[in-house]
Amino acid sequence: MTNAYRVIPIFIPQKACPHRCTYCNQFAIAGQGHIPTPAEADEIIRQHLDTIKQDCHKRIAFFGGSFTGMPIAEQSEYLDVAQRYWQQGIVQGIQLSTRPDYISEPILDNLKRHGVSLIELGAQSLDDKILEVVQRGHTAQQVEEASKKIREHGFELGLQMMIGLPGDTKEKALRTAERIVALGARYTRIYPTLVVQDTPLAKDYVTGNYKPLSLQEAIDWCKELYKLFTSHNVTILRMGLHPSEGLLDGSDYIAGPFHVSFKELVLTALWHDRILQELDGDASRTATIHVPTAEINYAVGYRCANKKAFPNVIFIHER
Ligand code: SF4
Repeated sequence: MTNAYRVIPIFIPQKACPHRCTYCNQFAIAGQGHIPTPAEADEIIRQHLDTIKQDCHKRIAFFGGSFTGMPIAEQSEYLDVAQRYWQQGIVQGIQLSTRPDYISEPILDNLKRHGVSLIELGAQSLDDKILEVVQRGHTAQQVEEASKKIREHGFELGLQMMIGLPGDTKEKALRTAERIVALGARYTRIYPTLVVQDTPLAKDYVTGNYKPLSLQEAIDWCKELYKLFTSHNVTILRMGLHPSEGLLDGSDYIAGPFHVSFKELVLTALWHDRILQELDGDASRTATIHVPTAEINYAVGYRCANKKAFPNVIFIHER
């Protein structure tokens, strides 16, 4: 088995989410159409397996944010499908994402029986005031209790966070990240808040009651979060929203720090800081920088930004 790692994603959006997070256009989410049946999920898995090399590590992932909000019997129908592949050794793991208030002992017992190994929770913020303002429908304490239960049951924990929600500051985002680390998360995802059509947040944006982060602010915050998470061995699975059709063609997007290569911009900025430090703050200095192959694109920078910023630096791949 190589170190390569592939996820087989199955999106199960909740049919009618009972919540009303102010940044979310759940009708657009629900309108993302068809929820695959368990038989269709099976087909999706088979199609992905046809395109994935046999010797890489494969995981089946149920995304959609509220998998365990379904009745347990319905969850089991999907999990039965995934479990068959896991038991035969065709995939090496099963994971899912859900809300903290959809975690209970019977739910966790059922996930355990089906071989789920990683549970990701949408925490979004661990500041109660922010959670209340955006009407998340759960508290920071519920995130902590759910995280504790997940770890006590022997699952790996992932905690996803958002930045730039109403009332958020860089300091509050860093505090959320510190608590994510303290709760024992192995994984995180960082999503900058965007203003999308037909949401209460869009109304606040129009009236001037909400100001989204600029792209540069979001990059600056994420640089600090990246340093914090990586120094505690928390793997960042994603930075920036998946570029959906509605974001790309602008039909859903109103404002906020959206960029198709958001992660690359953050890592470019981190390498920029690191190189400038090596050059003692003088960007015109001549130097040779040795860069691990996996990092070379970020060191050179998005659209060669760092190569241009440091014209006398030679970048050498380190294998
Ligand atoms: S973000 Fe909030 S409102 Fe939207 S689907 Fe998730 S829980 Fe429901």
